[in-house]
Parts: sequence; structure tokens; C-alpha cells
Amino acid sequence: MEFGGGKGRRVAVIGGGVAGAFIAKSLQFTADVTLIDVKEYFEIPWASLRGMVEPSFAERSVINHKDYLSNGRLVVSRAVNITNSDVLTAEGRLVGYDYLVVATGHDDPFPKTRRERLREYEAENEKIRAAQSIMIVGGGPTGVELAAEIAVDFPAKKVTLVHDGSRLLEFIGPKASNKTMEWLKTKDVEVKLQRSVVEMESVDSDGSKTYRTSSRETIRADCHFLCTGKPLGSAWLKETILKDNMDSNGRLKVDDYMRIKGHKNIFAIGDITDIKEIKQGYLAQKHAVVAAKNIKILMDGEKESKMATYKPQSIKVIVSLGRHDAVAQFPFTTLIGLIPGMIKSKDLFVGKTRKKMGLDPQAVDN
Ligand SMILES: Cc1cc2nc3c(=O)[nH]c(=O)nc-3n(C[C@H](O)[C@H](O)[C@H](O)COP(=O)(O)OP(=O)(O)OC[C@H]3O[C@@H](n4cnc5c(N)ncnc54)[C@H](O)[C@@H]3O)c2cc1C
Repeated sequence: MEFGGGKGRRVAVIGGGVAGAFIAKSLQFTADVTLIDVKEYFEIPWASLRGMVEPSFAERSVINHKDYLSNGRLVVSRAVNITNSDVLTAEGRLVGYDYLVVATGHDDPFPKTRRERLREYEAENEKIRAAQSIMIVGGGPTGVELAAEIAVDFPAKKVTLVHDGSRLLEFIGPKASNKTMEWLKTKDVEVKLQRSVVEMESVDSDGSKTYRTSSRETIRADCHFLCTGKPLGSAWLKETILKDNMDSNGRLKVDDYMRIKGHKNIFAIGDITDIKEIKQGYLAQKHAVVAAKNIKILMDGEKESKMATYKPQSIKVIVSLGRHDAVAQFPFTTLIGLIPGMIKSKDLFVGKTRKKMGLDPQAVDN
């Protein structure tokens, strides 16, 4: 079956996250696009913690690739190798390309189907509802947002947040960390810094658990959630033609055109790139816009000098704190409370992201 626009040039996109899904959607009517992802759906990552306290919220944030990729091909499999002409998948399938986009950001052990993913949200929600006390391990954005969601929606539950660093949200400035710490205290979240959870020591007859930390104290909780960050989706690239294009952190080195140095037809976008800026989804989409433009220019046979360039962006981060509040760091100021909350926390940019993907902001997918 033929896909895409008149030129019939083949674009393979590896990774159906924020960056990959967006570029596949953008190019589907100008090229013959194949999206290769380990799962059948795209998920808005920053909405996932709300989905744990309100599973129906995930019905809008977990979106089947087919819903926005009406004119592209979907291959649900893991990419395991790249040659100069093809991508090899775990099932042994070869996907040929004229242009390749690597967008494998982070590698999550998510289930294959949207239905299974929605069931996971139900199960996580039941786990939260059944517990009186909850321990969250990891004080980055995921741990902080989860602690805040639970504290706001279930104020009677005892929440303990354990973090091995010296402050919360270390990816942004200390002002934001301090304000977040104060906010969590007002919600009775107990924050324990500079220690890690070493082991689960015992399980009581009522099912509650005792955990031991590196500072030899014990924490009792009915359940726990690990929010310690996800591995980059780049380990497999070490065996490919791109092995010499990775930095020491496993990120792909790109030039200003979002192209991998030394490869005229291979681009990388999103969290997998070595661009010196905070890794954010809205920036991953900006990378996608630049790469899509450049692929079109190359497909049209235009001069490389016409290609668009990307410049690293200054810091603009909003971490939601439950349904109304948030902490935000902008280039010249750090804010906490209702004002940044009004920007992010009610809908968590879900309607906005759906609209960008060409979908009804409100409709619930089947
Ligand atoms: C709690 C939290 C809150 C956040 N809040 C915001 C926010 O408010 N605003 C914002 O802009 N950003 C936010 N972010 C950051 C944002 O989620 C990331 O920057 C964004 O997801 C990066 O997109 P990506 O496409 O590069 O990678 P990902 O979204 O990680 O997607 C990678 C995709 O590649 C697939 N994949 C991996 N390996 C393979 C393989 N070998 N073969 C095939 N497929 C593969 C994965 O399954 C996945 O679908 C937040 C992140 C977190 C954790």
C-alpha cells in the first residue's frame, strides 16, 4: 500500500513518543512514513501521574498511533539495528528508508496495547486507594508530581518521599526545590533527603511493609512507588552505524540541523539528543519541527543552505503540584502556587497536545 505524498520518499521514524509521534504526524502527507514503536500508542508523559489518581484522565492522554497517523505505516516492534538503508526490528523485519529519524528518548517497560496501559492505571489507582501509607522513592519531577497528586486527592493518606539527593527537583534551581519542599510540608508529605531505600525488611500480618534506608532508619508504608528515572532508549544504538555518534551519556550528537554528524539523511530529535538544554517535551516538538522542515528541503532537492537551524532554549519548566498549584522556573523568576498552576495543573496540557496531534482536545478515544 502506498502512503504519503507524491514524492514517495521513505521516512522511517524510530520511537513513538512526544518527538517521534509529532514528526511522523507532520510528514505523513509529504512522504511515505513508517513509525516504529514498541507499543501501539503514544502517551503524554506529563499526564501520567494524574492518571494514577484518576484513571479516566488517561483515556485522553493515551492515544493509539493510528488515531493521528491516518496516512502512515505503523510497525509495532523494537528497533534493534540500523544500516545505511534499513532499520531492523526485533521480529526480523527490515524497514527501508531514504531519511531516518531517531527519537527513542526513554525506554519504558510499558505494555503493548492502549487497553493494557489503561488497565495499569486502574491497578495503580486501586493500589493507592487501598493504602493508608505510601512511600515514593525519587524526588525528581515524577516523584514530586506523584506525591503532590496523592496528597491533594487523598489528604488522609500518609505520604513519605525519599530522595537520595540533597534537594528535590535537582534538574532545576534550588529556589524551586525549597519552595516545593515547603509546599509539600503544608500537605503533610514527609520528605527524607540524602538517603536511599536499601531493602524491604519485613511484611506485617496486615500487609504493611517496613523498609530500611541507607541511613539505617526504617519507614513503614503499605505500598511504594519507584520514581527513580527511566533509562535512555539508546543502549541498542551501540551496535549500529551510529555507535560513534554517541556522547558519554549515551546521547546522540546532532548538529544545528538536528542531523547526526557525518550522516546526511539521519536525524535525531527529543531527549535522545545531546543538545545542551533541559529535556522537555515541548522542546522535543520544536526539534521535530526543524527536522521535518529539513527533511522536506532535502526531499525537494533544495540547497542545504536553506535548511532550518535549532538553537538550545533557555529554561522554562513547570512541575505540577496537584490539581491547582505548580512550581515554575522561568529565565528570570521562580514561582509557586496558583499562577503557574493555572498554566499547567488543571488539564496538564492534554487538550493542547491532542490539538497539536490533530485530535479533538476533549474526546475520549476508544
Ligand atoms: C513527570 C514528568 C513531567 C514532565 N512534564 C513536562 C512538561 O510539563 N512539559 C514538557 O514539555 N515536558 C515535560 N516532561 C518531559 C517530557 O516528557 C520529555 O521531554 C519527552 O517525553 C521527550 O520526548 P521523546 O519523544 O524524546 O522521548 P519519549 O517521550 O521518552 O519517547 C520515546 C519513545 O521511543 C520508544 N522507544 C524506545 N526505544 C525504542 C526502540 N529501540 N524501538 C522502538 N521504539 C523505542 C519508547 O517506547 C517511546 O515511545 C516531563 C517528564 C516527566 C517524567
